[in-house]
Amino acid sequence: MTDAGELSRWLAELAHNYRWTWHPPTRELFARLPAAAAANASPCTRVARVDLTAVARDAALVAAVQSAHETLTAELAEAPAYRSIAYFSPEFGLAETFHQYAGGLGVLAGDHLKAASDRRLPLVGLGLLYREGAFHQRIEGGAQHEYYEPLDAAAAGLTDTGVRVRVELDQEHALVAVWRLDVGTVPLYLLDTALPENTAETRAITNRLYSGDEEHRLRQEIVLGVGGLRALRALGVHPQIFHLNEGHAGFLALELLHELLASGVGFAQALASVRGSVRFTTHTPVPAGIDRFARGSVERYLGAWAHRHHVAPGTLLALGEHPDDPPGVFNMAAFCLRIAGRTNGVSRLHGEVSRGLFSALPGSKDITSVTNGVHARTWVAPAWQQLFDGALGPAWANGDPLSWQRVDEIADRELAQARTRARADLVARVRACSPQATFDPDALTVGFARRFATYKRAALLLQHEQRLGELLQTADRPIQFVFAGKAHPADHEGKALIETVVGLAHSAVGRGRVVFLPDYDMGVARALYHGCDVWLNTPVRALEACGTSGMKAALNGALHCSTLDGWWDEAFDGSNGWAIPSVGLSDPAARDRAEAAHLLDTLQWEIVPLFYADGGRAPSGAWWRRVRHAWRTLGPRVTAARMLDEYADRIYAPLGGR
Ligand SMILES: *Cc1c(COP(=O)(O)O)cnc(C)c1O
Repeated sequence: MTDAGELSRWLAELAHNYRWTWHPPTRELFARLPAAAAANASPCTRVARVDLTAVARDAALVAAVQSAHETLTAELAEAPAYRSIAYFSPEFGLAETFHQYAGGLGVLAGDHLKAASDRRLPLVGLGLLYREGAFHQRIEGGAQHEYYEPLDAAAAGLTDTGVRVRVELDQEHALVAVWRLDVGTVPLYLLDTALPENTAETRAITNRLYSGDEEHRLRQEIVLGVGGLRALRALGVHPQIFHLNEGHAGFLALELLHELLASGVGFAQALASVRGSVRFTTHTPVPAGIDRFARGSVERYLGAWAHRHHVAPGTLLALGEHPDDPPGVFNMAAFCLRIAGRTNGVSRLHGEVSRGLFSALPGSKDITSVTNGVHARTWVAPAWQQLFDGALGPAWANGDPLSWQRVDEIADRELAQARTRARADLVARVRACSPQATFDPDALTVGFARRFATYKRAALLLQHEQRLGELLQTADRPIQFVFAGKAHPADHEGKALIETVVGLAHSAVGRGRVVFLPDYDMGVARALYHGCDVWLNTPVRALEACGTSGMKAALNGALHCSTLDGWWDEAFDGSNGWAIPSVGLSDPAARDRAEAAHLLDTLQWEIVPLFYADGGRAPSGAWWRRVRHAWRTLGPRVTAARMLDEYADRIYAPLGGR
């Protein structure tokens, strides 16, 4: 019999490494564990409250623990011995049990680390640890209300490295703690100012993600950039490449400059050297989305730094100038463009848009693009993974094109079974959230889940309410919609959109056919990707940098119906989903009405008839043919493995050489 101490150690190791998020057997194991904890509690919490005696008596469970632990140990034995790439991001989305992400940027960062682990890339992640994380959403009186939950470091599996670094901020010094998490073979270090040695104000720097005023963000970004590099040095990690996932960590360049200037190198030469090691990924195609600070604040916080290195404050501030900004603005994207040797957008179209957006800045012509990807093993339903592993071989998850060619060998019946199972899970979740909902486990199900930013047009369908009503009321070929998403607390238009969609769900036409799932997070998102037949995406063209939810849905066999924006602009081939044409009308209201009419036409005349083409309630043979075609063409494009290969080959490579 297995020794209880050993069993307990195995379980703790499995729970503390976020490898569980992309290893279905480990996930399943935690769900089966006899523990005095809620089913949705984190693995660390479940393991801490496990009934070890009961586990030890269950031979099958013990075998599952042992096997999962052996797999993990074997992978960790292949971890690189050094770390040459540091990946900085303001948020990381690793799992719904660790609420340190607000949306696509964070989830992308999490997927980047996971794919780096799969590839055994010598990468290390750097971020902030927010004591209250990102906000949660509750719907009350048909409207969004926000609340925060305090971080539980033990439940998240965080380890205090004991390393402390200091960061100068205006009049004070912040003491910063460095925590560690493991994501497979990749370490993630998170910085935290909530230490008793700090003043209340300084402790609050790492309180919440994307909240507070401009000065608060500036302080967070100085801690992330400057503190991040000092943390790496204190840990004995010396990367050659620093990758900025969006500009929030750009101030790390100051610390790099500082090291060079202190060793006697001149400013111009130091800047050239910094550019040799910094890479910048921009994620915002709209000027309003860019981080901007008042020059006065930047000077107040960084003037002492400049003075110490005999750099004129004007020289420093000039690095953040953008000719299109009003005077007195320090533009973080412009700064990052000047300090990075290579800059990329996140889809082909977004690369093009970025070259235009930054055309007034030197080097803008060289902005390239790496289209985002998603970590397949994290996002694909276990039932599909099993089917794919058997029929395609495990390399499908790395986007191997030859593997994806073999989807033709999977029978309709098997596809229908996996889809039915996943859709039933989604319907159960819907019913648990809104018990009065009469959601149909066999109906064509359309999903829409994302941040409720206005440009994403969550309520586009409502432009023609009567037509939508007719579509929803057909009894013989039913179609139903699941919505989820949050609006930033300060975004009143986004919050109004949520009220509109929630109102639709409760209206006479929408009841039973439209639901809004509250508190959109990675768990809600996964249930939607697994259970939906169609994924809807309606941004105004050129405003979505990439969009990744459609990629996750596509891997799960949902057909994408989207404006030709972000990744879809390059991936749509005419028959692997549907395109909503963008109308070149200058009046936004007229444009939205025209595009909504196209969308309703597509739903009514193409999507519904194709799904029910065989006359029954199950997806038709023609539907599955289209899904297989989508898998063949999209599978090789949308994985984070493909994305990471591109970063390794084209972005992280030394300047001047490939
Ligand atoms: C994938 C994902 C996103 C990003 O989706 P978009 O298509 O870029 O809007 C946001 N939030 C969660 C929880 C996700 O899983």
